[in-house]
Amino acid sequence: MARNIITKNLPHNPGVTGWNAILPEDSPPHILAKNVNADWLIIGGGFAGLSAARRLSQLAPDSRITVLEAGRIGNGPAGRNSGFMIDLPHVLSSEDYAGDSTEDLLQMAMNRRAIAFALDAADEYGLDSEIISQSGKVNGAATSKGVAHNLAYADHLDHLAEKYEILDAQHMKELCGSDYYNQGLYTPVTTMLHPAAYVRGLRDGLRNKVSIYENSPVLSMTKTGADWQAKTPDGAITAPQIILAVNGHAQSFGFFKRRLMHIFLYASMTRALHTEETRKLGGNPRWGITPSDPVGSTIRRISGQSGDRIIVRNQASFVSSMQVPDRVAIAKRTHHERSFAARFEHMSGIEMEHSWGGKLCLSLNDVPAFGAIEDGITAACCQNGLGTARGTLSGIVAADLVTGNLYDNHQSLERMLSYPEPKKLPIEPFATIGATLTIKYREWRAGKEV
Ligand SMILES: Cc1cc2nc3c(=O)[nH]c(=O)nc-3n(C[C@H](O)[C@H](O)[C@H](O)COP(=O)(O)OP(=O)(O)OC[C@H]3O[C@@H](n4cnc5c(N)ncnc54)[C@H](O)[C@@H]3O)c2cc1C
Repeated sequence: MARNIITKNLPHNPGVTGWNAILPEDSPPHILAKNVNADWLIIGGGFAGLSAARRLSQLAPDSRITVLEAGRIGNGPAGRNSGFMIDLPHVLSSEDYAGDSTEDLLQMAMNRRAIAFALDAADEYGLDSEIISQSGKVNGAATSKGVAHNLAYADHLDHLAEKYEILDAQHMKELCGSDYYNQGLYTPVTTMLHPAAYVRGLRDGLRNKVSIYENSPVLSMTKTGADWQAKTPDGAITAPQIILAVNGHAQSFGFFKRRLMHIFLYASMTRALHTEETRKLGGNPRWGITPSDPVGSTIRRISGQSGDRIIVRNQASFVSSMQVPDRVAIAKRTHHERSFAARFEHMSGIEMEHSWGGKLCLSLNDVPAFGAIEDGITAACCQNGLGTARGTLSGIVAADLVTGNLYDNHQSLERMLSYPEPKKLPIEPFATIGATLTIKYREWRAGKEV
């Protein structure tokens, strides 16, 4: 009997992502409008899907590789994030410094493998330093608790023989023009992306090796014999192997039911500053500050062709339906304006030009949704918030897995395959109530870090 999957919930991305809005208008999309046979079908055109496509094109250059993306590439979560491709784990696992650091070292090696892959792609496709740059990041501390967190983290880095620099308040002001921060912890390997330009760059670079269709959501999938057929509104792709790279939307295809948490994050971007405002702001033209409390504000400055702008990211919500209306994302602007004003008191009159939201996927036990999930379907989903690096890696290793390339990246693939399944969530409404209260409490506790 044929196996039939109907997709339940198509993605909606609330608000216009500033990252896309400041780019030149995109070329018209290639929309699937016919029936196509392929060797590999990748569903999802984010970090995981496009990285899987690039890796497949390297491992099986003569094969027919196709990507189906529901919207435009750069308009989904991959073009809505803050662009920090981070090599270090948020939390270093060994409590005592003499403890076992094997997992931390492995996580770092995996994230760095993803960063090397992105830098290599940028090199091959001619993406400039405004799109991707290994400039490091600063973990900014605005409270004494934040300072203590940074110092404890630095001790762990010493233990791992990792490079870092502690920046004092004056140094932080010289970096970002704000005297809000008491201290910062600079680490050099994080790679900063213009996320929408980066994924558009991957798409354009892959064009002559991979068939990429946008505005072509998969509505259903049917397996007959050895092949899957994925239907979109105007066409279909038939292929024996599918890589499902849709992050939390794996659930919309009926997989990992009640095991994936859908979290929306929100961000705003200022209008381009005038020359006089840029002078008044002070600091370096480009920098990225993550908060020392994970629910605090991520703040970035960009400069170049799209002007000098500041991007503020804070506020989170747990949304089991995966749908947030535009007005909710736009209403978060008030929080972003408040965090901007607190940091840049001398910069009144700078409006936020774009406000948006985007979703990410977490699991309760911080594991990916990865590997063979059904005959002919391999998942590269659930990046646990750090999808620029983890999504890239899961795409790479998914391609290794489906082509039987078990030798390169051997350790990463082995680790990805060793994780247990994402843990089951409590039933509704307890999951939503529990997650919402936890987020609110943590935002309150983060205080000035927000
Ligand atoms: C405001 C914000 C800030 C963030 N900041 C950071 C950060 O600084 N660093 C970091 O590492 N991460 C960050 N993230 C998280 C990061 O964006 C995600 O983890 C990452 O995008 C996940 O990559 P992915 O390729 O797995 O999934 P996605 O980027 O979500 O790509 C999946 C794609 O699948 C498509 N899709 C879904 N259903 C279908 C269907 N039926 N048919 C076809 N296509 C479909 C979607 O349209 C989507 O484009 C942030 C997220 C947000 C929202």
